[in-house]
Amino acid sequence: MALALFFPKIDPPYRQYFFEVNVEDLNTHDKHVQRYNVPYRLPEKTLDKVEFNIHKFNNRPKPKNRKRVIVISCFSEFGCETIGCMYCIPRLVKRYPGLYIIAMGWHGREYLYRHLVDEFWEVKEDYMWLRDYTRAFHHISSNLKRIEEAACHIGSVMPAESLGNYVIGNSCRTCGKFWSEWKKRYEECPACGSTVITRAVFTDLQSYKKEAIRIPKPSDKKLKWAKSILKPKTVGIFARGRKTYGRNLKPDFYVKLISLLESMGYNIIWLGEKQSTQPCPVDHVLDFSRMEESRDLENTLAIIANLSFTVQFWTASTRLAGMMGTPFLLFESPEQIYSSANRGGQEGCRLELASFGPKKLCISHFNTVCENPDGALELVEEYVEQMKNNDFSDVIGLVENKDGVKLLRDEYYDKLT
Ligand SMILES: [Zn+2]
Repeated sequence: MALALFFPKIDPPYRQYFFEVNVEDLNTHDKHVQRYNVPYRLPEKTLDKVEFNIHKFNNRPKPKNRKRVIVISCFSEFGCETIGCMYCIPRLVKRYPGLYIIAMGWHGREYLYRHLVDEFWEVKEDYMWLRDYTRAFHHISSNLKRIEEAACHIGSVMPAESLGNYVIGNSCRTCGKFWSEWKKRYEECPACGSTVITRAVFTDLQSYKKEAIRIPKPSDKKLKWAKSILKPKTVGIFARGRKTYGRNLKPDFYVKLISLLESMGYNIIWLGEKQSTQPCPVDHVLDFSRMEESRDLENTLAIIANLSFTVQFWTASTRLAGMMGTPFLLFESPEQIYSSANRGGQEGCRLELASFGPKKLCISHFNTVCENPDGALELVEEYVEQMKNNDFSDVIGLVENKDGVKLLRDEYYDKLT
């Protein structure tokens, strides 16, 4: 592991500051390369402009005074975006009654915002490659940053990352102090000692979940259409194909998965957005991810609402099944779900907040599955049988240290209940 230190010719205390920033950046990059075998930051070409489609959801005129307008940037990863829609944006709308709210975000996501805001600005499909620069709620893209800056002329801008603050940050209702609760649970404000605090969504999952503003069910027309294109007993597969973080399984694995599920009596539909999923490797399976209709999320949700279940490996596409209450089977790493100092892993929290139906988690490490893909397929068969018998308990699958993971799991569920 290489480490370079920079000492700019500036007197203290600035020297200390620069030193720390550089070391931190290098660590983030090195850790990322080590864990995922892909660079933390891909080169990014600078755009002159970015074009949007505007969806206006009501007849309210847009105020001329920019102080009456809020522009929310929703350029985050899908798994976080959905948490934003169900928990953060509804809170924001409540906090600023009467203001005109514009959400801007990814192509094809208009359905997530139709019931929430006055307008949705959908970036044109040509710019969807910018998704490679998102990291959870925030992004590392200079182009997306410029979009957020340019929107300041229209209203007060809420950057993508500040929605994340709602999720991980507590605030004091007495003195206004905001802090993110990570290692230690605070019962009182660290600044003034007040106990009147608004808890972060992640530290109070169960009570926030009761107040979730859920994504509406697709229209009857769409549900009927979905039924008409699906065979009975159909399972949806999402095959992760992302540049960020790697963790993509080989096409050959999916060929075997399809044949396994077909041998169990299921039909298959191939789902996902084309920018972040692999193309379907089997000709006779319907590849919805590459069809024009998949650009409208309501169509995809209507299909999912009609499925027996969905299957996915290390991807947040489970949100779609979770939001519709359709069962799903997910392979995910233990540290993503369970481990953190005083609550579950971030993905564990997000998964809990966005799943309103049964879910089967198979806790496995990506590398262990890559070394033993046939073993993973045997597990899929076993767990699908369990799901048929209504057994949706978490299972520890292919991990190096089963006992360690079991401990983490028990600790996690102790905290959750
Ligand atoms: Zn305080």
